[in-house]
Amino acid sequence: MNFHVCTLFPEMIKQGCNTSILGRAMEKGLITIGTTDIRDFSTNKHMKVDDYPYGGGAGMVMQAEPVYACVEHVKKQLGGNARVLYMTPQGRTFSQDMAQELAKEENLIFLCGHYEGIDERVLEEVVTDYVSIGDYVLTGGELPAMVMIDAIARLVPDVLHNDVSADIETFYDNLLEYPQYSRPAVWHDKEVPAVLLSGHHKNIEAWRYEQSLERTKRWRPDLYEKHMEAHPPVIKKKRKKKKNNSENK
Ligand code: SAM
Repeated sequence: MNFHVCTLFPEMIKQGCNTSILGRAMEKGLITIGTTDIRDFSTNKHMKVDDYPYGGGAGMVMQAEPVYACVEHVKKQLGGNARVLYMTPQGRTFSQDMAQELAKEENLIFLCGHYEGIDERVLEEVVTDYVSIGDYVLTGGELPAMVMIDAIARLVPDVLHNDVSADIETFYDNLLEYPQYSRPAVWHDKEVPAVLLSGHHKNIEAWRYEQSLERTKRWRPDLYEKHMEAHPPVIKKKRKKKKNNSENK
């Protein structure tokens, strides 16, 4: 899978993505993360890419032409019709479901704004998806692009060592994951729950499900409600007691 970031700060992306799991995935050729500097497409002799907003107001706006030329250049490089995701606090909020959906694409282009954002006219021409990483305003789209690349890349087959770990974890089936423990069995006088040392897989599974339910109910009641709607508890009917005829005899 190929990720490509159009940005004024390519170093930020390179430094942020080159290590750990993403770095290894790139080394193995499972993913590529490319960057293109929007400034390289400036038509201005001072390599400026921003100007004052029409109508006045604070800050600067990234101009249409360098952004357009940059995105078109990258699209051509990737061979045509890649989705272009504009990082913006005004977009649809990124989620695990969206990560799953985007992980099916072969090429993704991330467009990062800065200052007061990007001239609306070029957004209308090149952007396919407007995506936010949450309801707060950051200084630029680079961190959002890295957050998204990280979440999507770990869903690409073989990027994680243990395939199962990307399948059943937080947000799967609208549940938060159960608490995890590792060695030693006692730390600061706190013992690992005994069931996890029992080797009894069915009991461990049941305990983990209970824990997931409990913490989802406590921390994310919105998700808990969705989970319970999809998995209503089974109410066992009480069996009527048979009359003991012998008493009447
Ligand atoms: N003036 C814009 C507004 O009010 O909508 C905010 C511009 S912000 C200071 C600069 C850039 O940071 C945006 O163009 C966008 O690329 C990025 N950005 C900021 N917050 C973001 C968020 N929550 N999610 C995604 N991108 C964000």
